[in-house]
Amino acid sequence: MRFSSQFDKSLREKSHLLRSFEALLDPMENGALEALAARSSAVTRRHFGKTMRLFAPLYLSNECINSCTYCGFSRENAIQRVTLELDQVETEVRHLTAEGFRNILLVAGEHPKFVSGPYLKMCIERLRPHIPSLSIEVAPMETIDYLPLVSAGAEGLVVYQETYHRETYARAHVNGPKKDFDWRLDCPERGHEAGFRRIGIGALFGLWDWRFEAIALAAHLEYLQKVCWKSQLTISLPRLRPAAGEYEPQHPLADREFIQLICALRVTFPTVGIVLSTREPAALRDLLAPMGITMMSAGSHTEPGGYTGQGRDALHLTVKGKIVPGSGGAAATEQFSISDDRDARSIENLLTRLGLDPVWKDWDSGILGAA
Ligand code: SF4
Repeated sequence: MRFSSQFDKSLREKSHLLRSFEALLDPMENGALEALAARSSAVTRRHFGKTMRLFAPLYLSNECINSCTYCGFSRENAIQRVTLELDQVETEVRHLTAEGFRNILLVAGEHPKFVSGPYLKMCIERLRPHIPSLSIEVAPMETIDYLPLVSAGAEGLVVYQETYHRETYARAHVNGPKKDFDWRLDCPERGHEAGFRRIGIGALFGLWDWRFEAIALAAHLEYLQKVCWKSQLTISLPRLRPAAGEYEPQHPLADREFIQLICALRVTFPTVGIVLSTREPAALRDLLAPMGITMMSAGSHTEPGGYTGQGRDALHLTVKGKIVPGSGGAAATEQFSISDDRDARSIENLLTRLGLDPVWKDWDSGILGAA
């Protein structure tokens, strides 16, 4: 049985845990919010110590056959696109390792021709000697198609549902394979079956009512904690940022509620990792870092070749999925603009000032060998 078969029921007949979580999302006075934040910090220190894992996204390709209304890479957008070749991917990674990163998230749009399973496998094999912790955030696959990627050395799978509200999902995903809500919803379980030892889920806040999204995300998490017991789970709460296509969030999540949501998730799910990306402004990231977050990105670029300028000779404009001949530009288009543009060293220094321990590497395949 998959989560998709019980998702609607899990929201109709909420568990005791979900009802407690829901109560923490009610509007609250400043004093109550401060108390929740203090509790969240204490729970985080108890379960994670002072550690903060650092990672960087590496965009392999911004080609995409889907039409997602909120995304800069949507097929509908006439943008500069490129897929990095293996040598170019390695050059980007060498830059990131020089910055200190040992935990990389490989990101790509959905395009079977450019971002195939064999291409991803070759990328992982090429990077594995440099990077002990590789995760992927790409189009959902069948379990059998994940197996070669896990064997090649990918240890993490990230897949956000974007919105858990079925009608909003249908409106936001106009064309392409991503229209299938249930197929995406069940992806983390397929990844667990394939052997990914870390699994990340999340919702994109701004598409629908934030409390609904939060409760549905919590329901998904509660289910996965029971079923995907061999994997470490993380959650992300990205808020919509400006991007090509200029989508306007219809249901913005304000900073105050965002803080409340993170703290509520932390005290409800004490052992689950919470990820905070460079989508958020520097001042807010500084505030949230000690409050419940366990994993942060730094110095991120959201376009292929963003770190070292790789792939610029192969750039091309696409209009409705068709390449316009001779249309190469200066740089690939980003998926969205980041807000906190501080580099890795600045974030490392910040964490040290806050009394936290930046963790660049917490995993090596040798651990399994030793076991
Ligand atoms: S959200 Fe993902 S699938 Fe949708 S257009 Fe962007 S890259 Fe493609």
